[in-house]
Amino acid sequence: MTIRKILVEPDKFLRQKSKPVDIVDKDLQTLMDDMLETMYNAPGIGLAAIQVGVPKRVIVIDLSRDGEEKSPMYFVNPEIVSSSNNDATYEEGCLSVPGQFAEIDRPDKCHLKFLDYNGNKKELKAEGLLATCIQHEIDHLEGILFIDYLSKLKKTMIIKKLSKQKKSIERIVV
Ligand code: ZN
Repeated sequence: MTIRKILVEPDKFLRQKSKPVDIVDKDLQTLMDDMLETMYNAPGIGLAAIQVGVPKRVIVIDLSRDGEEKSPMYFVNPEIVSSSNNDATYEEGCLSVPGQFAEIDRPDKCHLKFLDYNGNKKELKAEGLLATCIQHEIDHLEGILFIDYLSKLKKTMIIKKLSKQKKSIERIVV
């Protein structure tokens, strides 16, 4: 397993729409393994392939807490079939928007269709943190970040901050 580089906003790549996966093969499983390793290393609880520069509709999630046994979940071509009319609010962050957090409302339940790690068709009724996490990751597949739900002013401020951080990081690398 390889830890891959996570793209950070502002990055045009993060804004593109990811393409559906045709077949779940060894290469795709390697991508999923790498994504999981990258997510654990970050650390984070969810990651979309586009965040490591691969525009495919693949996400990985693991909501297990520190000290608990790991319980990775893999979603290929995830599709929300229906979602609840009630919202849940979480303070969200994102590995591609480091150090920034904001309260975001999303449907508190969603019914999902997807392919698993072995390419089998699956369905899942998610709620609570899992429902929020899945919706956050599916947004990535559409080129959407959680900061897009904030006011224009707040979003601009966050992107400005991230741009500055990026510049100083590059200076050290050079
Ligand atoms: Zn994210």
